[in-house]
Amino acid sequence: MTSQIIDTEAIKNDPVFGQISFDGHEQIVFCNDEDTGLKAIIGIHNTVLGPALGGTRMWTYKSEWDALNDVLRLSRGMTYKSAITGLNLGGGKAVIIGDAKTQKNDDLMRRFGQFVDSLSGRYITAEDVGMETRDMDVIREVTPHVTGISESKGGSGNPSPVTAYGVYMGMKAAAKHQFGTDNLEGKKVLVQGVGHVGETLVKYITDEGAKVIINDINEARLEELSKKYNANVVLGNDIYGLDLDIYAPCALGATINDNTIHQLKAKVIAGAANNQLADEVKHGKLLKEKGIAYAPDFLINAGGIINVYAELEGYGRDEIVRKTENIYNTTLEIFKLSEKENITTHRAAFNIAQNRIDTRKKEANS
Ligand code: NAD
Repeated sequence: MTSQIIDTEAIKNDPVFGQISFDGHEQIVFCNDEDTGLKAIIGIHNTVLGPALGGTRMWTYKSEWDALNDVLRLSRGMTYKSAITGLNLGGGKAVIIGDAKTQKNDDLMRRFGQFVDSLSGRYITAEDVGMETRDMDVIREVTPHVTGISESKGGSGNPSPVTAYGVYMGMKAAAKHQFGTDNLEGKKVLVQGVGHVGETLVKYITDEGAKVIINDINEARLEELSKKYNANVVLGNDIYGLDLDIYAPCALGATINDNTIHQLKAKVIAGAANNQLADEVKHGKLLKEKGIAYAPDFLINAGGIINVYAELEGYGRDEIVRKTENIYNTTLEIFKLSEKENITTHRAAFNIAQNRIDTRKKEANS
């Protein structure tokens, strides 16, 4: 999942705190259950603004180190996502090591839910890659500390459509900054990964008249969606050098890395995937130098968390839409700040989020 080079010597000496992705995390919980075969890691990065909320990802990690690195990067990302979105939530995330298609079952979900419950609300889980609303319902049987349960059970349901709407807002704001208009009509947009979020994004931009190209490792899905939305298909990994206006990474993280960044011809990057930059500092800077408008992932993919936060705070659809549409304004502000202070957009968004956390911490300590 992460493309960072791992220093195996450092790992041997400092296997947790020495991890490349360790960034002052408050707590990391390793969950192991022989009966169900559960192997999971819960990362709680920061709880200054509130309980650590973030989805659970089930994935066939190549190694436990990859899983640990992934959960650390993802939980940290959640801290900044909630902070910049103005939510009173901290950052957390969980990963379950395994194949969601063949190894996921209700007993495994319940056992995982019991581990979540043991944290007494310091961590609240939700859906991520490899998880469905139904899995959240099963987890709800054993803990109240879960969001994204079915609407029929009083939850907010699948967060992906709201995430897609937020990404669409962020994409329009980035287009406004880069092209002088937020109208996507005629813009050539590549959506990489047409899963839960990617498909809805394809719908929004197709409706607006964008020329949409889709890419996925699931060829059956590509065939189905190319017919449904009249989208062009590109197969394989060789997509980064395509002649595009906008690249929307909606599959997995770290697709902007040493191998891909010099190929990019797109003028805007705006997508749903978490941790799109393999190295936030280096690749953020290179994108700025190349004049590519990068809409920070943790800002524009916050629709899902806005949606699940409604479950905790009890606000309704109108407020969800209002908060999600505000992603447009915040994205424009970030581009302005990035220009004014000559910093990357990632750094600009990060600074605003960190200020909010620092201020709250000071208030709590005074
Ligand atoms: P998903 O699992 O429904 O869809 C991901 C899609 O990407 C699948 O169709 C998969 O086949 C495809 N894919 C996987 N590897 C690929 C590759 N190498 N090249 C091309 N396609 C590939 O997931 P989702 O819920 O749509 O989420 C997409 C991304 O957005 C993830 O990174 C997720 O963490 C992030 N995200 C999702 C939400 C949400 O509400 N679902 C919220 C915030 C962030």
